Amino acid sequence: MYVKVLGAAAGGGLPQWNCGCANCADARAGRIAPMTQSSIAVSADGAQWVVLNASPDIRAQVQACPALHPRALRESPIRAVVVTNADVDHIAGLLTLREKTGFDLYATADIHDTLRANRVFDVMDRALVMRRTIALDTPFSPLPGLLLTPFPSREKSPCFSKAIRSGFRTSANRPSAC
Ligand SMILES: [Zn+2]
Repeated sequence: MYVKVLGAAAGGGLPQWNCGCANCADARAGRIAPMTQSSIAVSADGAQWVVLNASPDIRAQVQACPALHPRALRESPIRAVVVTNADVDHIAGLLTLREKTGFDLYATADIHDTLRANRVFDVMDRALVMRRTIALDTPFSPLPGLLLTPFPSREKSPCFSKAIRSGFRTSANRPSAC
């Protein structure tokens, strides 16, 4: 299994637009590297990829990761997106994944309800983006050779959503930075 760490910062990124803490100041000054918001891409074959959580930085993250670049005029190796909760940090990037390229969107029923209630997410063409419902503690395969198992997390839900937060277990990882 291949894992690309697309971003590792907390919500808001590093530096965060309205933060003057020491880390953000160092990132602005170039003393430490800036970081985009947390997201990873996972693949069984290195050709087809699943993105776990669509961060607001996804456009820059795809740009920085050659494995995720299109290989034809209108195409993407991103075949699926899995969102683990309805945090803005994890769903806002879905708005970037419009433009008429299909993929499977996996989320729990509660998360899908949140997306459905926010009509701006209708920019994802329902004829092309298949919204697939997953259940906690029930393994599913977003791509051949990949098996993910969502599990409940104790972290708090986003303030606008009652969706249960979840994480994922996968088989052995082989991380690589883009
Ligand atoms: Zn800061």
